[in-house]
Amino acid sequence: MTEKDAWTLSLVVPVMNEEEAIDPFLSAIDDTLNDVAPQLEILFIDDGSTDGTAQALTAAAQRDSRVRWLRLTRNFGKEAAMSAGIDHAVGDAVVPMDVDLQDPPELIHEFVRKWRDEGYDMVYGVRGSRHEDTRSKRTSAGLFYSFFNRLSTTTIPSNAGDYRLIDRRIVEALRQLPERSRFMKGLFSWPGYRSVGVYYDRPARQVGSSKFNFWKLWNFALDGLVSFSTWPLRVWSYIGGVVALLSFVYILILITRVLIFGSEVPGYASLMTAILFFGGMQLISIGVLGEYISRLFIEAKQRPLYLIEHDSGAARKPIAQTRPAAKAGAS
Ligand code: UDP
Ligand code: MG
Repeated sequence: MTEKDAWTLSLVVPVMNEEEAIDPFLSAIDDTLNDVAPQLEILFIDDGSTDGTAQALTAAAQRDSRVRWLRLTRNFGKEAAMSAGIDHAVGDAVVPMDVDLQDPPELIHEFVRKWRDEGYDMVYGVRGSRHEDTRSKRTSAGLFYSFFNRLSTTTIPSNAGDYRLIDRRIVEALRQLPERSRFMKGLFSWPGYRSVGVYYDRPARQVGSSKFNFWKLWNFALDGLVSFSTWPLRVWSYIGGVVALLSFVYILILITRVLIFGSEVPGYASLMTAILFFGGMQLISIGVLGEYISRLFIEAKQRPLYLIEHDSGAARKPIAQTRPAAKAGAS
């Protein structure tokens, strides 16, 4: 934590096809965060948008010197976009947040208070009721957190999203993590340091629509588990051991039966059951191997996480915290 008075706060905002969301987001920032930090950097990462997002960002950067934006060469996904933002942000504290105002900006005052006054290195937002989510999303999220924390040595706080404040020290630690599978919630927890949660109610999306469907979320959860736990790989030795033991007992029973009652021809059902059972088990365990090997393959290629096509300028300094002058007519 810096003791300097001229410290900088960076907001890192990944955007994909969010042309209508950018102006309302910036006005909300103006309304609530005008005095949050001596200097504010609002760093948008255009994650391969195909709508008018780039134009909206250009206009925003022209009228507001605190706005800077990067454009990735294509859609790399929110986790990569956020990594790009965290790599390029200049702030002493960095806050990744969504553009759709589901992460209420006024909460940042509380984040900053806990960071500056109470010395926490990370302050994460915890969604209180999650009443804006469907029941199935709430249940699956709950299952995921308990499953994850049981399997992984890095524990993540339940119902904390990416919305949080991270100190420069953690930013530097994150920049040292080279992996391509970027499950940010896990990566945020990995460096350790002192952290604390702040509860909030997550409102519904203001404009535009969610960019995540069930399939994307499923893959995201799988990525998180496989990146942070080797348990799915190891569990097969135990399952195999138990099954082998049971089969051994069964073999003994069969042999005894044959010795006592003589050979018994109809064995089709038990044979079939055993074959199908072992076949299924083998396929599942090969599938798990596949999940890990495919990630080894991805890591081994060492491809960059993202490519930047355009950078609106390493903060046309100074990023003084003032209301943009020409904002009068803007929505
Ligand atoms: N986003 C992104 N790249 C993607 C998908 C989403 O940069 O491939 C951004 C999106 O523009 C938004 C944030 O990530 O600012 C969160 O997305 P969304 O609101 O759709 O997620 P949800 O709130 O539904 O989980
Ligand atoms: Mg959202």
